[in-house]
Amino acid sequence: MTLLQVSDLSVEFNTAEGVVRAVKGVDFSVERGRTLGIVGESGSGKSVTSLAVMGLHRGATVTGSAKLDGTELIGADEESLRRLRGRRMAMVFQDALTSLHPYFTVGDQIAEAYREHHGGSRKAAWARAAEVLGDVGIPEPARRAGEYPHQFSGGMRQRAMIALALSCEPDLIIADEPTTALDVTVQAQVLELLMKLQQERGLGIVMITHDLGVIARVADEVLVMYGGSAAEQAPADSLFATPRHPYTRGLLDSLPRLDAEDGNALRSIPGSPPSLLSPPDGCAFHPRCPVYAAERNPLCTGERPRLRQVADAHRNACVLDEVTR
Ligand code: ADP
Ligand code: MG
Repeated sequence: MTLLQVSDLSVEFNTAEGVVRAVKGVDFSVERGRTLGIVGESGSGKSVTSLAVMGLHRGATVTGSAKLDGTELIGADEESLRRLRGRRMAMVFQDALTSLHPYFTVGDQIAEAYREHHGGSRKAAWARAAEVLGDVGIPEPARRAGEYPHQFSGGMRQRAMIALALSCEPDLIIADEPTTALDVTVQAQVLELLMKLQQERGLGIVMITHDLGVIARVADEVLVMYGGSAAEQAPADSLFATPRHPYTRGLLDSLPRLDAEDGNALRSIPGSPPSLLSPPDGCAFHPRCPVYAAERNPLCTGERPRLRQVADAHRNACVLDEVTR
């Protein structure tokens, strides 16, 4: 059975300025032992999507469905969600310092989380904490377990947070920009660690990032988000070989290339992300889209596009796709 099945998920916030439609009818699924990458610029709805799945959204209206092994998460009561969050699914955030408490040792925090879900003695939980710290590559884990978060380097803290997430042996990990704050070498180590743990334990992983380089490293399947909607969805090799949505192409063009003539200059897509309070008509990307700029096709400003199958296992929301090829 599919580990996580998300269908028509929408998230809205009522604000003083009006209704912010942060996520609009997103679908995706995650299989055991596989990684779904969710990629998009800042503000595209990646974090809100994952928080809604975990039941950690505050003050949002969530509709649609998210099933973990068949159990509906949307609308589930707080107590069931809390239990599932420890045992079945866990989240790893960008900033380990906001998730690890500064006043408790790393080992205490992992041991407490473990005991809350699995019970047992303090001593057994502490042994488990040292064990998972060792699993994530912390040297001298039994000694380091007695240290406070601030005594860990950034990369070690990120490993500790992964250990915290793993301590309860979840089936699903949602990692939200887990390596964004790390330098590239440490970033690569942390990604490799997650993939190794995935292979050993058959974890399903959702990897959220604004960085297509991270996606290229880890993802089996990719969901490209723009303005709260899915722009394109495909197996990773298919997405990188034949990106079909102009937004995805823009993201790929803005990747730094070692062979670039202009050095390593990072080009970004001109223009800014759409307002979620009053989004543009039709395709939310059309005001920045080079194809629209050239063709002014009225289809682009008509109905809001949805993902459509355009090739084997490859779905695209660009309304011009079938017209242009
Ligand atoms: P990202 O893709 O960078 O993770 P987010 O999912 O964090 O983007 O945010 C998507 C949009 O939802 C943003 O425009 C953000 O301003 C909006 N948003 C998030 N949380 C709230 C909130 N509590 N109230 C109003 N708007 C919010
Ligand atoms: Mg985010």
